Amino acid sequence: MPERAPLTVNGRTYRWMDRPLAVVCVDGCEFDYIHQAVAAGVAPFFGRMLAGGAALEADCVVPSFTNPNNLSIVTGVPPAVHGICGNYFYDREAGAEVMMNDPKYLRAGTILAAFAKAGAKVAVVTAKDKLRALLGKDLDGACFSAEKADETQQALAGMGRPSVYSAELSEFVFAAGVRLMETQRPDLMYLSTTDYVQHKAAPGAKAANAFYAMMDRYLAKLDALGATLALTADHGMNDKFGADGRPNAIYLQDLLDEWLGAGKARVILPITDPYVVHHGALGSFATAYLPENADLKSMLSRLAGVDGVQLALSNADACARFELPPDRLGDVIVISEKHVVLGTGRSRHDLSGLDAPLRSHGGVSEQAVPLVFNRRTGGIPGKKRLRNFDVMDVALNHLRA
Ligand SMILES: [Zn+2]
Repeated sequence: MPERAPLTVNGRTYRWMDRPLAVVCVDGCEFDYIHQAVAAGVAPFFGRMLAGGAALEADCVVPSFTNPNNLSIVTGVPPAVHGICGNYFYDREAGAEVMMNDPKYLRAGTILAAFAKAGAKVAVVTAKDKLRALLGKDLDGACFSAEKADETQQALAGMGRPSVYSAELSEFVFAAGVRLMETQRPDLMYLSTTDYVQHKAAPGAKAANAFYAMMDRYLAKLDALGATLALTADHGMNDKFGADGRPNAIYLQDLLDEWLGAGKARVILPITDPYVVHHGALGSFATAYLPENADLKSMLSRLAGVDGVQLALSNADACARFELPPDRLGDVIVISEKHVVLGTGRSRHDLSGLDAPLRSHGGVSEQAVPLVFNRRTGGIPGKKRLRNFDVMDVALNHLRA
């Protein structure tokens, strides 16, 4: 590719790729999944990347949920800038609880769209359809999901359309990615999987190792095709159940109803989306809208005193600390401890679909994620703390030739 002027997107500058770049967001990938699969001998290519490429630790965005992090990765900035801070929010202007997966809620352009506009060939494949429209905003290029793949896209992947609750949904993404690299050789490709397996299987478990072995085969193919590989995750994953195998949940709406009167406060769980079977809409991050006459300070100290609550912060403090958009969160933000989740009312969570003890995410405890490349870096100056949304910066600006 001829030398082209670097692109500036959302205040950050990116050099052009010297070979095709495949950025992979492995949904729910703790580093330990990779280490355990390598140790078990089922992921030799991951082993080669850890030894001969670059393997760095990074922090994801809190709330450690899928959409805020995917959007940070493709925009290079935190939710305070791009606006997507959950799957779901309370729109104060509209006075309604709404899904946040409409592209109109995205406040920043993507690096993908910017490269496509400047003449790069760009392709995006996601597992779940909920991300497709956001990732594909203003994008001139291929952009489709495994969940809603049409016949042409199914033929491309060499697979029929998989169930939305399956490991195959993610395999479809990799199969399509490899075929796209073989047939169309995009300059920039973004692949985003689903955390179905990680919600059920801990690092080193049989199903987890099988999933990483599957990924390993496709990543090795992309590497053999000459692509730069940049892999990160949207969040980690932890056990969230007690000794009895039942979810360790704090039901916040029930608590606030007891303290303030029924229905006076409104609890929003930004993990809520149409695919709640594997986590029952229980995660480690919640926000609540309080009635006007509520005493914020005393509410915060009462919430902070609840067993299992790690942080209870005001809107201003939480948005400053986690770089979030204040207008899309409530008056208080609550984050639970590593093995605890937050719910609304006990009766509002259908846990009948949970066929394995609950594993989930959303909190600070799921913030550590991998940043893995199949090439060494030449050093990353001026960065004390890497973020998952530095992945494009490292891949384009800081890898050795
Ligand atoms: Zn996720």
